[in-house]
Amino acid sequence: MTNKARARRVRMVLTDVDGTLTDGTLAVLPDGEEIKSYHVKDGLAVLLAQLAGLKLGIITGKRSRGLEHRAARLKIDELVQGAADKMPPFRDILARHGLRPEEVAYIGDDIGDLAVMRAAGFSAAVADAHPVVRRSANYVCKARGGRGAYRELIDYILTAQGKWDLVTAEFKTIFNRAL
Ligand SMILES: [Mg+2]
Repeated sequence: MTNKARARRVRMVLTDVDGTLTDGTLAVLPDGEEIKSYHVKDGLAVLLAQLAGLKLGIITGKRSRGLEHRAARLKIDELVQGAADKMPPFRDILARHGLRPEEVAYIGDDIGDLAVMRAAGFSAAVADAHPVVRRSANYVCKARGGRGAYRELIDYILTAQGKWDLVTAEFKTIFNRAL
């Protein structure tokens, strides 16, 4: 099956955080709180995906209060933190939304993502993912983690689904109304 055909079936996009939505660096404050940086291009991807009617979720092994804020602000449907094994939350999320694995895309960067990538119908790796992860992905992004890789995956799915023109037109309407 081609990647385009896989992307056409997608109704929900799940992502890892560190190394995927971020470049993998962590700034650690004296109190132990970790600061991460997210890319504005990926934030816009969330909005475009939502305009297209896609559901979105995050599964991460770590915990971060900053991520809770960002996920809430972006109205992400599912946020699971502290998942040492990502498969149980993956199954839970699918059950909650009544989705089959082939209707889900997943993007990651490291070996903790491999099981979910194999289970999901459409898997993607960021450009600087671990070589094993890149080899196992259906789609390897040109963009690196935290540098628009998530955006690249969303763009690919929206284009494959023929929703790109509709969504960008809708986006312009919303943007103009907000001015
Ligand atoms: Mg990661």
